[in-house]
Amino acid sequence: MPICGVLGWPVRHSRSPAMHAAGYAALGLDDWRYQLLPVPPELFEETVRGLPGAGFAGANVTIPHKEAALALADEATDAARAIGAANTLTFAPDGRIHAENTDAPGLIDALPFDPAGCTAVVLGAGGSARAVVWALVQAGADVQVWNRTAERAQRLCAEIGGRVVPAPPAAADLLVHTTSVGLNGEDPFKALPLAVDGLDGYPCLVDLVYGNGPTALVSAARNAGATAVDGLEVLVRQGARSFERWTGHAAPLDVLRAAARGEPTAAA
Ligand code: NAP
Repeated sequence: MPICGVLGWPVRHSRSPAMHAAGYAALGLDDWRYQLLPVPPELFEETVRGLPGAGFAGANVTIPHKEAALALADEATDAARAIGAANTLTFAPDGRIHAENTDAPGLIDALPFDPAGCTAVVLGAGGSARAVVWALVQAGADVQVWNRTAERAQRLCAEIGGRVVPAPPAAADLLVHTTSVGLNGEDPFKALPLAVDGLDGYPCLVDLVYGNGPTALVSAARNAGATAVDGLEVLVRQGARSFERWTGHAAPLDVLRAAARGEPTAAA
């Protein structure tokens, strides 16, 4: 019975178990299981090293363990090393641990267009911004980065690419919001240098933050006539990449999407 799971602290609100379990059911992978793995930082390495022997095929990794996951891996993709974080671990039969980062290709998968040659503005310079900037730079976009703490943005751009801007420009092909503003109901138009009626210059917005229902940024972008991709779609796309890595099957995207959104799935 192959088992996968998601390592985090806290992790009880993760939508990954519902998403992966629905995918297994839809494909008839009846002996596959996906578990929540709540693990505090001080037990992370010991726990992960025990997973292959306990029958685990792989694990997703979320806050606050993504850097630690990369550090303990025996091998890692160039992308994970460049980003400095891993969100997907795969365990070989001999116990070796392989680390990769599916947040980066997941972001590209979620976009409604190929970002090559487009202009992109990234708000934020934290962990998720590193994956987003890396993905967009590698895909050939011209990336500008704004962050509340400018030094952090400078460090990110020096290591990964893109250039720091003192304020977001009025227009770009793509705006990606990666700060944690909005996660606890904060008003993004108070915390960020954006006006609620100032999104007309962005035909496409991605908001990594998600909750129940559209965020204020997603609603404002849609009101301005833009295409808005929400954080759940990005979550689904990174999860689909992990699913494919472990099972060897193409992920049933509509099933994962419905499960992540708490909607009934055909298999449920
Ligand atoms: P992080 O590493 O802690 O970075 C937080 C970022 O938010 C920093 O740029 C920080 O700026 C900024 N920030 C925090 N409070 C702010 C405020 N009041 N005003 C302006 N900027 C503020 O977090 P993360 O891991 O990148 O995650 C960020 C968000 O993305 C979270 O909401 C997370 O849930 C979401 N996320 C979603 C997905 C998905 O699949 N949809 C994946 C990963 C993350 P400073 O540097 O100035 O502190």
